[in-house]
Amino acid sequence: MRQLIIVGNWKMHKTVTETLEFLVELKEKLSNTAVEVVVSPPFTALAAAAEVLKGSPIALAAQNMHWKKQGAFTGEISSAMLKELGCKYVILGHSERRQYFSETDDHVNKKVKSALESELIPIVCVGESLEQRETGATEATVEKQINGALAGLSPEQAAGIVIAYEPVWAIGTGKTASDEDAQQVNGYIRKVIACRFGNTVAEAVRIQYGGSVKPANAQGLMAQPDIDGALVGGASLKMHDFVGIIQNV
Ligand code: PGA
Repeated sequence: MRQLIIVGNWKMHKTVTETLEFLVELKEKLSNTAVEVVVSPPFTALAAAAEVLKGSPIALAAQNMHWKKQGAFTGEISSAMLKELGCKYVILGHSERRQYFSETDDHVNKKVKSALESELIPIVCVGESLEQRETGATEATVEKQINGALAGLSPEQAAGIVIAYEPVWAIGTGKTASDEDAQQVNGYIRKVIACRFGNTVAEAVRIQYGGSVKPANAQGLMAQPDIDGALVGGASLKMHDFVGIIQNV
């Protein structure tokens, strides 16, 4: 069975001090949960977060990385650096990276490979825009993103990654995909993976939903057969909401 994975993507929020305050309390509140819980603070707070989370079941994710291991890339951070800091996961190809920083499927693919080489688990984000949904291009869009991101991976590598289906129109808008719509796309993503890597891999891969997840809708979404967790933005910044989501599923 696939263990549910709930990741808090903090984006560009929380200083080191705010991160420490939040995580000390979160650790106490979640000492006992069947769900895998991951937090993803900004780069600047990762080292302090790793220190405070030592010995706790809460894991750490970075929000991005460069695919090169080192070199003259001012302002960038490599997979090896994140691994050394204590990150277990790295979020790759978030729609904000694609939209504001021109990331392509090819960039995401290079990053996925570099993350795996450094033994980081990629959380690969895919999802359609409102226009793509309205013109019936949802499945074609996520299929292209999945095939691009996972090109060249072995079945063993593919089985270990996490995918987050995040419809762009649902991110930060308060509009959530219905349980049925989210399930439909997550099920389709699993089929795409089965075609490419076989059924065993498709059954092993965890596929999250993301986009305005909150305590009130988490349970219905997580009850769907192909939704194996959530990538939570806004609600992960508030203790009451994040803990509420984890305890509701
Ligand atoms: P949201 O963000 O929960 O605020 O919609 C989700 C995400 O961008 O990962």
